[in-house]
This record gives sequence, C-alpha cells and structure tokens, in this order.
Amino acid sequence: MSQPKPGDTRFLFVTGGVVSSLGKGIAAASIGRLLVSRGFRVQLQKLDPYINVDPGTMSPFQHGEVFVTEDGAETDLDLGHYERFTDENTSRASNFTAGGVYNSVIRRERRGDYLGATVQVIPHITDEIKNRILIVAESQAVDFVITEIGGTVGDIESLPFLEAIRQLYTDLGPERCMFIHLTLVPYIGHAGEMKTKPTQHSVNELRRIGVQPHALLCRSEQGLDRDIRRKIALFASVPEEAVVSARDVDNTYKVPLVFRAEGMDDLILDHFKIEADTPALGDWEELIKRADASREHKVKIALVGKYVQLEDAYKSVIEALAHGGWHHGVDVEVELVSSEDLSEEGLEGADGILIPGGFGERGIEGKVEAARIAREREIPYLGICLGMQIAVVEFARHVCGMEGANSAEFDPETPFPVVDLLPEQKEVSDLGGTMRLGADPVKLHEGTRAREIFDEAVIYKRHRHRYEVNNQLRRRLEDEGLVCGGTSPDERLVEIVELPDHPFFVASQFHPEFNSRPTRPEPLFRDFVGAAAERAAARTEPEPAEPAPAPERTA
Ligand code: GLN
Repeated sequence: MSQPKPGDTRFLFVTGGVVSSLGKGIAAASIGRLLVSRGFRVQLQKLDPYINVDPGTMSPFQHGEVFVTEDGAETDLDLGHYERFTDENTSRASNFTAGGVYNSVIRRERRGDYLGATVQVIPHITDEIKNRILIVAESQAVDFVITEIGGTVGDIESLPFLEAIRQLYTDLGPERCMFIHLTLVPYIGHAGEMKTKPTQHSVNELRRIGVQPHALLCRSEQGLDRDIRRKIALFASVPEEAVVSARDVDNTYKVPLVFRAEGMDDLILDHFKIEADTPALGDWEELIKRADASREHKVKIALVGKYVQLEDAYKSVIEALAHGGWHHGVDVEVELVSSEDLSEEGLEGADGILIPGGFGERGIEGKVEAARIAREREIPYLGICLGMQIAVVEFARHVCGMEGANSAEFDPETPFPVVDLLPEQKEVSDLGGTMRLGADPVKLHEGTRAREIFDEAVIYKRHRHRYEVNNQLRRRLEDEGLVCGGTSPDERLVEIVELPDHPFFVASQFHPEFNSRPTRPEPLFRDFVGAAAERAAARTEPEPAEPAPAPERTA
C-alpha cells in the first residue's frame, strides 16, 4: 500500500453516551486493531474534557494509572489500550485535555497574539482543538486517525470538543469523517427485555449539538436481536447494519473479533468507499485461543501497592502480567495487597511478588518488608521504579547492615541515602522540573541476568521518576552481591538490579509495563511470570508437571 498523504487521512470520532465506563477506550482501540489488520496505518487519540493540564498530577485512585509515552508525555490510561491493541506507539499528540487547550489559548492571548480580539470558546478554543486533531494526520503518514472524546454526551465539559468535531465534519465532509457513538442497551430483568430508550435519548442529545452518528456501538450483556437493532436504527436514522452489537466478553482482547463478526470494519470502509485486503487476524485469534487455554493453570501474583482499591491504578502492569501468563500457558491471578497493612501471611500462597511504581511515603515500610520476604523466601520478585528503589533499600538494610538506609524521598535525614537525587538535580530541585520522563537507552551488562532476559546489548525503556541509586553507596551494595544488570550508557544511572542465586529477583528503574503487547510480552514480565509459574507448578503438583508448551520467544 502506498504511503498515505496528509490530505488522505480519514477521521473517526468515537463519542460515548448514557453512562461512563462503557469501555470507549477499548472500543476505539478495537476498531484500531481491525483497521490495522486490514493493512492501514492508524493513530489513536484521546481528548479529555477535564481542566487539569495533563493527568500527570491526578490521583491514580480516581483516574487510574498515568500512561507514559515514548516521548515522555504523562497521559490517560486509554493510550495503553491503544498501544496494546494496535501495536503502534502513541505520542504527546495522542492525548490532550480541555485544560491543556485553554492553557495554550490563554498563553497566546497574554502574548498578544490575538491582536486585541475577544477570545471565545468558538472559534478560538474550538480552533485549537481542531488543530490538535489535524496535527496527528499532518505529522505522521496515517490512513486513519481515531479520536476518542472522553466523557459522556450531555456533559457541560465536553461541549467544546463535540462542537469542534461537528465543525471538522463540516470542513472535511463525510468522505473524510465518520461519527461512531457508543451507548448502553440495558437488560431490565423484571420486564425480561432490552431497552432502547437510553440510546434514543443519547443520540438525540448528540443531534441537538449537530452531530448525527453514522454508526452505533451498543454495549449490552447479550447480543442484540433483530427487532432491537431495527428499532435503534429507526430512531437513530442509521441503516440497520450500522447498529453494532458490543456484547460483554470475558476478555477485552476479544472485542476486535466481536466487532469483526459484526462487520464493523466493512462498515467503516464502506462509509469511506475504500477497498482493502481481507483482515489478517490470525495472530489475534491465536492469542485468544492461548488465553482461553491458559485458564486452568493459575499463577498468583501479589501486587503490593498503595492504590489497591482501584485496579486501573495498575492497568498496564496487570495487562503485562496477563501477556506474560499467556505466553507460558498460565492465567495470572493478581491479588492487590495493601502495603500499609502487609503481613507475612498476606503473602502466603503468592507465586510471585511485584512492587510497582509509586510516589510518597505511605506504605513504604510494608513494601520493604515484602521485598525482604521475596528475597529470603526465594519468591520471584519484580520491582518497577519505586519497586527497584525498595529492593535496594531492603538490601542495604538487611544484607549490607546499613541501618536506617532509605531513599532520601522518604527520609531526608537517613544516614544511608542509597536512593537520592543526583547532585545536579539537587541544585535545580526547587524548579520542580526534574522528573525523568520517556524513553532512554539502557545498557545491559554482559554476564547478567538482565542481558540474558533481553538478549540485547541496548534497550530503550520509558521512565517516570526523580530519584536514582546513589553512586556513592553503590559500590558497597555491589560488594555485598547486588548486581547492576543494566545502567545508562555512561553507567552513571542504575537501571536494573538483580540478585544471583535467586529464582528470579530483578528490578528496573524504568517502567517495562508500557512496552508489553499481548502477542509480544515484555521480557521482564515474561520471565518473571515464567519463574512464578514454575513455583506454582511445584506448589500444586506433588510430581513436577510438564510445563505448558511456550511459544517461540519473540521479544
Ligand atoms: N518516587 C520515586 C521517584 O520519584 C519512584 C517513582 C516511580 O515509581 N514512578 O524516583
């Protein structure tokens, strides 16, 4: 297929109605997967209606994880779905908020760029939104941009976004734009039927602002029957085949296959009058088969963290564990364990212990304890970012005898700041801008486990942190047996620590979870889950069972 030119790019807008949490991100990502499977280049984008300039400072309790892109943007977790489903990296341009839009417009106004004009939502805010959508097509050669509008139609907040896409449709026409609306079709038990009224209302709300959807994605427990489809089609003024059933599934990676069976991709290509190859979904079908077959073999991973009330706070970590599990033919059960009331019994039965990234002092001692248990009891351990710093603190205290060792983030007075700001960071720390964000090279040292796991000399991994292992104390840690398997190319920054003579004790300063794909698990996750699966097999079977056949290593 020839390289698409900016003028050829088609825009798909995905809006949501009735209620939130219908899985708009997964729906958009699944459409992306289908278009990729038909040979197109696709970029996805999320527009968030809140006023925060970016989600970097928002509480994961409320908002779920902060997803970090290669180019170092702190973004919404839906971008993780986009990357996992389409296998394309997102970027800074892939997510923006109402706050970010207003911020740019107000900065321009202060600079006098509007030459004294009255600055208004229409056209100034809407123009900024339109530019930020169009720029994705202009900066990259893509066939489709899929833009997901956060929030629910009818919210005051999302109005400027909807107005902007309405204008874009007027500017570019139906040959270049398509509106897809996701709604809920609830089943009312006592009436024994599905109800279309919420969908009707939501479509009306959308029309009131001038947007007539071309297709409806109807989320429901069961598939839609013919009568319901017909009724929705009639009220929403769309052809019957444009009412797509998005029934519940037990594994979100099945959604692209459900949409395919509903003819979603053909619907889109017909709308734009484009011909394309039949979809190549073999690898995806294979993946689903493997996931389904993995069910009987459970592996328990204790994820020791602070935000245990909300799984979304660790979305990419949990997904990466699942990917690793399917590779080995096992089903990873993640147990979220609160680091604040951690006990030895709480980790009973864990085949692996994972400490993810985090900020702030709360629950730190519980995490140190969890790392000690993993090290002493030879339970596979994967530490990520804070989880690596915790492993270093634990090792310093209990192996090197550095009593009171800590990260300067949690105890500025510690006699052994084994994790600290770099000297040059200290000078600028008042300015606040010292967070290391985005992909950086990591050199993997010969003869280490890290090198063996990745089987490469240099890898690129995403970061989001301020503190580093303290080079002044590093030597003492290494002398006692802590191995630095990976560092920055100049060896100043520790990127991976590991313990030899342990089934699996590896921790990274970077965030491997953002690079994991369902068909290509991230190597640290893959091998961590592999080690945990071995432990599970030894625990459950009196005789060591044959491990499930693993597919070829592809990472
Ligand atoms: N709080 C630690 C730091 O800033 C770890 C950050 C993280 O885990 N993402 O270095």
